[in-house]
Amino acid sequence: MAKALVLNATYEPLCVVPVRRAVVLVLKEKAEVVHATEELLHSERAAFAAPSVIRLTYFVKVPLRARAALNRRAVFARDGHRCQYCGASAENIDHVVPRSRGGEHVWENVVAACRPCNTRKEDRLLHEVGLSLRRKPSAPKELTWIVVSVGSVHPHWQPYLAAGALSA
Ligand SMILES: [Zn+2]
Repeated sequence: MAKALVLNATYEPLCVVPVRRAVVLVLKEKAEVVHATEELLHSERAAFAAPSVIRLTYFVKVPLRARAALNRRAVFARDGHRCQYCGASAENIDHVVPRSRGGEHVWENVVAACRPCNTRKEDRLLHEVGLSLRRKPSAPKELTWIVVSVGSVHPHWQPYLAAGALSA
């Protein structure tokens, strides 16, 4: 099902909703269309170009967000499916400080890794095996998580996401 990106009144991306929900917001004048696609949505009386990006006409105060759920798919998305030790295609997730050595299962201690690095490292610390991280792992921003859950990014969304989410 087609989705639309919802921007706050300030143009910050907020969330992704089904296109029909986006149309309802526009018809209720709670949002305006920023970008539309060529696809038409038909109602009983009229046809509308399906929006791909809408902007709320009022400002939504975004509450402090919960941390994005930590799972394999989200870690792979954050790390671009690349091993964070050598840059090869990742196949596993690795605990930087192994769990057997007291490492926690948290965003800051979990990275995507290729099989050879994962095998080489085993239950050892980085300096013990001469590996280093290409960048410090951190929790992704909420929007990255939204994009991961949707699975694809419409080209119209990219200018709005580029500022924050996808570089997280
Ligand atoms: Zn590797």
